[in-house]
Amino acid sequence: MNNNIYIIYGKDAKSMTKDLLKYVDVNKYIPRNSKIAIKPNLVVAKPYTSGATTNPQIVEGIIEYLKENGHDNITILEGAWLGASTKRAFEVCGYSEISKKYGVKLIDTKDDQVKKVNVDGYELNVCKSVFEYDYLINVPLLKGHCQTKLTCALKNLKGLIPDSEKRRFHTLGLHKPIAYLNKAIKTHLIIVDSLMPDPDFEEGGNPVEKDFIALGFDPVLIDSFAAENLGYNPYDIEYIKLAEKLGIGKTTGYNLIEINPEKKPRLASRKSSIVGKYAKYIDERDACSVCYANLISALMRLDEEGYLRKIEKKLCIGQGFKGKGIDGIGIGSCTKNFDISISGCPPKSTEIVQFIKSKI
Ligand code: SF4
Repeated sequence: MNNNIYIIYGKDAKSMTKDLLKYVDVNKYIPRNSKIAIKPNLVVAKPYTSGATTNPQIVEGIIEYLKENGHDNITILEGAWLGASTKRAFEVCGYSEISKKYGVKLIDTKDDQVKKVNVDGYELNVCKSVFEYDYLINVPLLKGHCQTKLTCALKNLKGLIPDSEKRRFHTLGLHKPIAYLNKAIKTHLIIVDSLMPDPDFEEGGNPVEKDFIALGFDPVLIDSFAAENLGYNPYDIEYIKLAEKLGIGKTTGYNLIEINPEKKPRLASRKSSIVGKYAKYIDERDACSVCYANLISALMRLDEEGYLRKIEKKLCIGQGFKGKGIDGIGIGSCTKNFDISISGCPPKSTEIVQFIKSKI
């Protein structure tokens, strides 16, 4: 596999993407008449300026490059996170407009049929349409994640499984199924948006201008680079380690090629701080990302309003609390057996704020 990771610095997402693709001469890797799928990260219906979603101008740059090289069979595939509307994300994030402008299809994987896949004895439910494409271009955002620390190429494929499977992934601890999912679905090319991602939180809110786009072919190597960029050792992220063990790619030995080093900004590499600050108030057991993220958002609001120091009992969240009655404050329907619990699957962060205020 190609061990190079190519970086371009700047702010003009579309022209940077096209320059990067031309520099690497990506067209020589794409077979003629390929059915091409592009997978951005549209986890929530928030514009890219929030730091949560892939900049649509990067996807525009990819489409223009592909079309200029004779590729016309292009589809954008995505499924927003649990309980969120992908169609709304397509609208809000600018992808409906891209679809009209370039005549590319948009597929909401939440509407898709499900295919059972067995990878070395490990069973997964994957959206069927993924397997109809010859060439998958993964376009993740290099972001922090409140449970796995990092989300980039490997975790981005989670948008290609149904919501029920997303829930099940959390009961399985996320890392192992994410690694196996990447064995089930082959990524051919990765173009990483690191223009203004949120380095702490997958839902965005605190974007940091990092001003670069990266390109590579090995999702494990890309995620290792991404982990280091956020200040982690790649082996701190369990799914990276597992993916390497499964032979999906390598964690070491990438060759960094900076196309325009003269434009390199001063990058701040740091570990997640916001999520770590609030994690001590939480007892998390197999919580879905959206539920956990809503709780973190709620704690940020409570912190701003001076309520945080009044929280004395642990806030319990996750599918691991189903059927249990523990002396804590339960967040979400999974904790309905608690004496004190808010329902909802997931509960909204505004509801959690009001609920916690009423219980402390
Ligand atoms: S209540 Fe929260 S953790 Fe439980 S299944 Fe629903 S979203 Fe997931």
